[in-house]
Amino acid sequence: MAKDKFITGVVEKQSIKETIDLISKMHPAEVKITTLIDDSIASKEILSNFDKELLKKVEFLNASNYSFSQFEKKLKDIPPYKPLLYISSSLDNLSQKKDSYRSIEFIKKSTNSPIYNFYEHSIEEGLLGGKVVLFKEQGKKAALIIRDILDGKNIDDIKLTSTDNKYLFNYEELNKFKLLDKIPENSILINKPKSFLDQSLIDILSQIVVIFLLLFIGVIFLLYKLYKSTKKLEEQTLEQSGLLSLFDIGDTVLFKWNNDATWSISHVSKNVVNLLGYTKEEFLNQEVNYSSCIHKDDIKKVKEEVKNNKDQFFRHSPYRLITRDQKIKWVVDYTVLIRNEKDEITYFLGYLLDISREKKIQNTLEKLIDSQSTIICLANTKELTFANKKFFEFFNCSTLEEFREKNSSLSNLFIENDRFFHLGKIEKNESWMERILDFPKNERIVALPDKSLNICAFSLNANKFDNDEYLISLTDISETVLEQIKLEEKAIHDRLTGAYNREYFENKYRLMINESKKSNKQLAIAILDIDFFKKINDNYGHDVGDYILKELVKVIKQISREDDTLIRWGGEEFILILKVNSKESLLIALENIRKKIGEYKFNHINNLTCSIGASFYHENEEIEKTIKRADLLLYRAKKEGRNRVVL
Ligand code: GH3
Ligand code: MG
Ligand code: MG
Repeated sequence: MAKDKFITGVVEKQSIKETIDLISKMHPAEVKITTLIDDSIASKEILSNFDKELLKKVEFLNASNYSFSQFEKKLKDIPPYKPLLYISSSLDNLSQKKDSYRSIEFIKKSTNSPIYNFYEHSIEEGLLGGKVVLFKEQGKKAALIIRDILDGKNIDDIKLTSTDNKYLFNYEELNKFKLLDKIPENSILINKPKSFLDQSLIDILSQIVVIFLLLFIGVIFLLYKLYKSTKKLEEQTLEQSGLLSLFDIGDTVLFKWNNDATWSISHVSKNVVNLLGYTKEEFLNQEVNYSSCIHKDDIKKVKEEVKNNKDQFFRHSPYRLITRDQKIKWVVDYTVLIRNEKDEITYFLGYLLDISREKKIQNTLEKLIDSQSTIICLANTKELTFANKKFFEFFNCSTLEEFREKNSSLSNLFIENDRFFHLGKIEKNESWMERILDFPKNERIVALPDKSLNICAFSLNANKFDNDEYLISLTDISETVLEQIKLEEKAIHDRLTGAYNREYFENKYRLMINESKKSNKQLAIAILDIDFFKKINDNYGHDVGDYILKELVKVIKQISREDDTLIRWGGEEFILILKVNSKESLLIALENIRKKIGEYKFNHINNLTCSIGASFYHENEEIEKTIKRADLLLYRAKKEGRNRVVL
């Protein structure tokens, strides 16, 4: 190409012979040098420069005879440390290509050999070295030629030229294959780590400056940290002593007890003197120990609470301490257990709060509540939580547990009587404590049996006390209620005979009509009149007459059924109200009464008969009509000869 007058340049001429000689020299035992080639144009071009002599010294491994994976196996079979000469291995038998970087990387990975080469660039990439073409030199020369041409020099006058190849090695590879001492003099080494002395003075100085700077920053940083942590420690100490001094002046006494037999004290706040009369120093010098300050009746309980406690932090139930001048102080004690690695308690930290004043108020209140004649108790929705003395007296038990064992609940004891409040008067799912205040005051009365099973009446109150708690009070009003009951009973009974009176009839007949309807029975009204009663009065006197009336009521009550109601209608006339299924059964019942009266032996007189007229109540009629019909029938009974029943 250079024969053309317009072409000139820098020729890339490999030092094939020198490199092969170099390999032979560095590996004298090697007979034939394995040379990696392929079928690429570049490879063929280089091979064309091998003369006969050179060919004798090498054997070829052609990548293009194999697939890449077969080629890899071939490479792996090469014994380690055997020198290789790399020309090209970029093309396999399937015409797959790898660029030279990948190809070199691939060979290096698959072998453990020093690999020689003709070009500078592959050595930078990790091959060992050789007498190589220096591309940078070539580029430089080409650039100078171009400048001359641009300056107007004739291309034809510029001769084809080349560069001098040099021995160039990769230091790391030489070191790895222990070939450092085998290379020719004047060889250029690349990748050689610079020794300290190799570096320029400026380099060294700048490194020293950097080191000093780093040291300086480090020291400053450490000093700053030290300053900060001291400051923090100071702050913490200050904060701690501030907190501790809070205890010194407050009402809460801080303690650190050792877990020894007497609970000796290793720290206590100064205000302990206010609580116990002993000074801090007396405790610290072991002149007094803590357990001896605990009331002898409480020490067992306190020790057990410590022993049985499962939590790290707990509160003792209030206990008593004895002061220097033998006074009692009540305290609550909050304690934290501190354990060592073996899980043994080493000491306790805690604080005591003097609750003597509160305890005194509580005692006074309890006494006050106990002195009440009213039964007072506290209850939540589930159970009773407190009760006063009167409660325990009335229910004949000494603790709430005992009460609970004997009775399912307080409300279940309420006697079910219409006159009183009881659970039947509210819905099943309702709480009586919530409902009771909805009832008017005169219906907030319950009846309870006392320990001798006498019925007592109480005015009941339940007021919300605290969240779910109710304050329940039961005031005994038995006397008043019984008095009232007596009065009411009197008002509806006939004074002479004790049978019900007309007043009662007026109040109750509507109810009776309704009840008979509900029970599907017929309501009958019978009027009973004594025959010839006037004669008894005349013959035996009015007193005997009275006696007979009383006795007759007793007899009728005995004979009649419990459901029947006997009313003294006036004089010697009675009304009997009966609920029956039919006319026949009414007749049977009344005939029975008539017969039994006739058979009864009354004192003073021989015998006595009576006449009865009876009629059923017709629906929706005025009761007076029924009575009138019965009265007419009674009149008929009298007329027809007395001592008979007419329906
Ligand atoms: P009969 O009914 O069979 O026709 O004759 P009777 O004699 O019973 O009738 P009557 O109505 O004439 O007499 C009723 C008497 O009952 C008149 C009255 O003196 C007497 N009587 C009424 N109330 C009482 C009372 O509370 N005590 C006494 N001892 N007698 C009374
Ligand atoms: Mg009569
Ligand atoms: Mg009469």
